[in-house]
Amino acid sequence: MNDQNSTCNADALKKGNWVKLICGASNQDLPSIADLCAIYGAAGVHCIDLAADEAVINVARNALDWVQTSYGNKPWVMISLSDGKDAHFRKAWFDANLCPTNCSRPCQNICPAKAIENTGGVIPEKCYGCGRCIDRCPLGIIEEQDRRLSLQDFTPLLKAIKPDAIEIHTAPGRSKAFKKTIEEIMKGGLQFSRLSVSCGLQGSGINYEKLAEELWIRHEALRMHNLKPLWQLDGRRMSGDLGTGAAKAAVKLWEKIRPIAPPGPLQLAGGTNESTIKYLPKLKGPEGVAFGGKARKIIQPWLQEAQRKRISLREWPEGWEAALSEAQQLINPWLIRKSS
Ligand code: SF4
Ligand code: SF4
Repeated sequence: MNDQNSTCNADALKKGNWVKLICGASNQDLPSIADLCAIYGAAGVHCIDLAADEAVINVARNALDWVQTSYGNKPWVMISLSDGKDAHFRKAWFDANLCPTNCSRPCQNICPAKAIENTGGVIPEKCYGCGRCIDRCPLGIIEEQDRRLSLQDFTPLLKAIKPDAIEIHTAPGRSKAFKKTIEEIMKGGLQFSRLSVSCGLQGSGINYEKLAEELWIRHEALRMHNLKPLWQLDGRRMSGDLGTGAAKAAVKLWEKIRPIAPPGPLQLAGGTNESTIKYLPKLKGPEGVAFGGKARKIIQPWLQEAQRKRISLREWPEGWEAALSEAQQLINPWLIRKSS
């Protein structure tokens, strides 16, 4: 990566106007990923968080090379790994032969990724594991499939992908697994710019103080390897497209954790959307934000139309301009924030 771009991305974390796009730790929908990277890269995000999958990274890098040539921006490529079972690394599955022909298909109607076919089952590449379909099935036939990488696959994959940044999804009670994961990552001798730790309270049954203690344990593990941290506070996972309530959850987590968190930039995720910034103080906000579901939802009409036309959004000027304008409206208020 061009040093100037890398410095600019790192500086955004210091200035407090860092923005990350989350494509999804299990999202493998290559045409959409290419378009998402192109649109949000052009809009000015500093980092794009992608599935740890060579095909995904290849299409993302192609799109980002184009962004650099056309707009001068080069966001970091971050990949997501996990130190234990985690909703971000699952996919839904069901046997469509078991579905009654008169089912009104509530699973399909609720799916934000349009990952369920009209008459068939889940399209695995498109499913990003939000889980919303699972409780909707009156027959209870939708299962979760765990799609995490195993520890021994990390080193060869990291060598092949060479990400600029790595995120580890962790959870309270998994500090030993976290340390092992870090050790495995470091075995490969890979150089990268930032190690992000993604953690939240959802489903853990612990309080804010306990969560901060968990982060301090991870801070110690990062310090031992001389890694620069980024703390991703996961408010209400994969829910940014659901509205204001989700935005408040992410902000509340930041407010409670901020005074007791270990050193390093804090970034909001899990429920972030256009409302998030309204709930934050003007000057002393978090260092950054990550947008996932909301970022995808606002440009989805153009993504779908481009796919229907079997072209990239970059080949369709009207669609490109409209989608880029939506993306800029979401992220510009963050890009122009003052230093905290
Ligand atoms: S609703 Fe969520 S979990 Fe279910 S198929 Fe769609 S993306 Fe996957
Ligand atoms: S809701 Fe259940 S039964 Fe109906 S189409 Fe979906 S998976 Fe099949």
